Amino acid sequence: MRVFRVFFPAAVLTSIVVLGLVSHPLRAQTRQRTVAATSFADLRTWDATVDRLKRDDALRVRRTMDDTLLSGRVHERLEQFYRGVRVYGADIARQTDRGLTVSIFGTMYEGIDIDVNPALSIDDVKAVLEKLTGVALGPGRIPELVILPLDGGGYRLTYRATVFTLQGDHEYFVDASTGAVVRMFAGARRQTGTSSIGRGHGVLGDDKKVSVTSQSGTFLASDLLRPPSLRTYDLRGNINRVLAFLNGRATLVTSDLAASTSTEWTDPVPVDGHAYIGYVYDYYFKRFGRRGLDNNNISILSIVHPVRRSDIFTAPDEIVGDFYLNAFYCCNGVMVFGEGLPAGFVLTATNQSVNFFVAGLDVVGHELTHGVTDFSSGLISGNEPGALNEAFSDIMGSSVEFFYQPTGTGALQADYAIAEDVFTPGGIRNMANPGAFGDPDHYSRRFTGTADDGGVHINSTIASHAFYLAIEGGTNRTSGLSVQGVGAANREQMEKVYYRGFTQLLPSNATFAVARTVTIQAARDLYGVGSAPERAVTQAWTAVGVN
Ligand SMILES: [Zn+2]
Repeated sequence: MRVFRVFFPAAVLTSIVVLGLVSHPLRAQTRQRTVAATSFADLRTWDATVDRLKRDDALRVRRTMDDTLLSGRVHERLEQFYRGVRVYGADIARQTDRGLTVSIFGTMYEGIDIDVNPALSIDDVKAVLEKLTGVALGPGRIPELVILPLDGGGYRLTYRATVFTLQGDHEYFVDASTGAVVRMFAGARRQTGTSSIGRGHGVLGDDKKVSVTSQSGTFLASDLLRPPSLRTYDLRGNINRVLAFLNGRATLVTSDLAASTSTEWTDPVPVDGHAYIGYVYDYYFKRFGRRGLDNNNISILSIVHPVRRSDIFTAPDEIVGDFYLNAFYCCNGVMVFGEGLPAGFVLTATNQSVNFFVAGLDVVGHELTHGVTDFSSGLISGNEPGALNEAFSDIMGSSVEFFYQPTGTGALQADYAIAEDVFTPGGIRNMANPGAFGDPDHYSRRFTGTADDGGVHINSTIASHAFYLAIEGGTNRTSGLSVQGVGAANREQMEKVYYRGFTQLLPSNATFAVARTVTIQAARDLYGVGSAPERAVTQAWTAVGVN
């Protein structure tokens, strides 16, 4: 089998009018095509191809959005289908300017020739998952039938489903005829950390306002001021109820909302969580004109106290990694914040204490950005797309800090460290100096093993370090190449370049090389060819070894 990653010169394009998608007896092997068209000739050919595939129902429009930064621009996202079944990780992002196509990026598969009628029913596959995990999925959790391109070549008809257990979330691909698990991700892509280890006061003692609802003398953490519903639930350590909710077997009700009988909240955890979710919503709107995670004001539901610190001594080891030492974005606007460690306890490996995860504004920004990604590029799990997903979450998480906090390395200050107000001292990653935590600052140093779902957190720093360099400038420690950044005073430019590239132009199965191309395109869209931001982002990717 051959995998092609091709940047198309126009001459090649005209010869592949049969862009697969219809089964072709001479091409039984998997063919992955990376599309990165920005030149006139490439665009003309790809435009015609995309339109033809739309007519043939091989591409379906998932979403069309008006550009919030450049008027007249429209972004269309199309997903590949084969005989009515979605092909996982295959999609196209097309940008037009008053009807004229500006860019097309994407990944398509050809040579698909499989039976799309599953032998197993939805109930069958739920039974398989229950046997495997001990979890029964609720009636609202319907596994999706998808065609999965296999790493070793070929395609498999599978059901895709996410299951939450005490160990966190796992994404399964189950063979639709045999019930065998074809692929599984540990769900690490959604999380901040690694599991190796009214008015009220925030966790760090600061005074902040919370937008709450008053009901019969009780103040509830439900925000009626912002356009979407923002609700913060206090699950009071009832982990079984958290899991039942995440698996669609329980609903949360008003009495689960974090509440206070006075406007002076005594528990700082819902105060921080609730306030910071509002901050992140406002950042996205003020900076980019984006209305929430889906740009359509989907409600955001967050859970604090999924476990209790005081229970940690009796808790099974397996839940410590996810519900004490992590935070994660689940799906459809739902987030869970970990509890941290009891006072006086530290992680033995790093000697760090771990605060409530709501205490980190960058952590909240990181997790909610996973929601933005899910509703925009839809970057798929694992490997390079997974690492780009994590990188974008760190980039936006850090950018939210710089939007609200003064620059500095202390508590409640903005810097390029990630989760430094939760894992103290130092945080868990550093975009300015990835090597400080053993993470790569250059593509040649990337992790190629299978741990961490293919190094999604580890390798994220290659892309996030490029973001840092494109703003601050400086020299990459590995390549020795220098970057002339746009400067901290112009950081907004690079935030917009990355936001535009990652949410509007990037396809779901993107490599680092595609991320380079889309951010350069975004800089040209926003600031013009030859502009300082275009130069900065180009030099930054080159310095980190992504060409
Ligand atoms: Zn993450």
